[in-house]
Amino acid sequence: MERLLKRFVGCESPTDDKEAVDRLGHAVAAEWRKRRAKIEYLTRREAGNHLRISWPAGATHKAGASTGRILVLGHLDTVYDVGAIRGIPFRVSRGRAFGPGVFDMKGGLVIALFAADALAHVNWLPRRPVTFLWTSDEETGSKGSQDAIEQEARRSAAVLVLEPANGPDGQLKTRRKATGTAEIVIRGRAAHAGLNPNEGVNAIRELALQTERLVRLNDPRRGVTVSPTLAQGGTRSNVIPAEARLTIDLRVETRDDMRRIERQLRSLRPILPGARVTVKGGFSRPPLERTASAALFSHAEQLAKELGFSVGECLAGGGSDGNFTAALGVPTLDGLGAIGKGAHSPDEQVILSALPQRAALLAGLLATL
Ligand SMILES: [Zn+2]
Repeated sequence: MERLLKRFVGCESPTDDKEAVDRLGHAVAAEWRKRRAKIEYLTRREAGNHLRISWPAGATHKAGASTGRILVLGHLDTVYDVGAIRGIPFRVSRGRAFGPGVFDMKGGLVIALFAADALAHVNWLPRRPVTFLWTSDEETGSKGSQDAIEQEARRSAAVLVLEPANGPDGQLKTRRKATGTAEIVIRGRAAHAGLNPNEGVNAIRELALQTERLVRLNDPRRGVTVSPTLAQGGTRSNVIPAEARLTIDLRVETRDDMRRIERQLRSLRPILPGARVTVKGGFSRPPLERTASAALFSHAEQLAKELGFSVGECLAGGGSDGNFTAALGVPTLDGLGAIGKGAHSPDEQVILSALPQRAALLAGLLATL
C-alpha cells in the first residue's frame, strides 16, 4: 500500500491541470486493469477526465441492473500545484506517510484497490455490482462532475465516500453541513467627499450596515454560520463609493435551515435611502443529514467490531460529493478513506498502519451490502 501511495502522490494532480490529472487517472486505471476491472473515461476537453471503474467486470447481478449497485466515490484532483512535491516530498517517518494529497485523497484511491484485492483473495465477490467513480474536480466544487455523480447515485442502493476520516481514531462522517457562497452587491451613488457628500449614497456604509444585519443570522447552537469573508468597495479616497461587494460563506446542518437562510438572504432590503442591494449565489451543496447515513453507519460499526476495531462518527463542517448523493435520498456514508491529518497543508499525512484496516472495512461493506 505504501509503494502504491508513493506512486500516486508522485503523480501530482491539481484540479486545473488536465494533463496532470489525466496522468494520475491513467496510473490508477492501470492498477484496476490488473484487477480485471472495466475502465471508462468520462472525457472532458478543458478539465481532467473522470474515471469510472466497474468491478468485478462482467458481473451479472440481478439486483444491480437498475438501482441496486454500490457507488464508491472519490477524486483524483488535489489542491497542490505541480512541483509542490519538491517542497514536501513523499516521505515516511514514524509510521506516517507525508506528501501533497496523501490524505485528501490518494490514500482513499489506494484503499479501494486493496479492498478489491482482499475480496478477490478470499474469492468473496460483492453481491452487488460496484462502480468506483474517481472525479477530477472535487476540490473546486464538482461543477463538472455533479451530473455524473448524481446519475450513478440514482442507480445505486448505497454510496460509500472515500474522503479522509476524521480525527486520529478515524471517525466516519455521518453528517455534513450544507455549504454555499453568496455575494451581496451594493450600489449607491458617487459624489465628491468634500463638495457634496450628502448627494452621494455611500455603498461601503450600506455594506457595513448589511454586514451587521447578516451576522445576526449566525446560530452556533443549530450549527448555522454566516461569515462575511471578502469585502470590496470604493474607487478613490475622496469619492463617496458607488459600489461595494461582500462575499459570505454559508454553512448549515439541515435542509430546513438551508431554505430559511436562503429566504432571508433573498429578502435583504436596502437600509440607506437610495441604496440598492442584489444577492447572488447561495447554497451549492445540500446537507448530508443523518437520516441518509444512519443505517450504513450501524452496519459499518458492526463490521468494524467483527474485524477487531471500532469506528465512531462525526459531523463535518465541509461538504463533499456525498452531499449530492444524500440529497437524492440515496443512503450515503462518508469519511471511509485514510486516517491522518493536515489536509490541504504542507503537513498532510496518513497513518500507514491504518490503511489495511480501512481497506478491510471497505471490503466488508462491499461484500455484505
Ligand atoms: Zn477530498
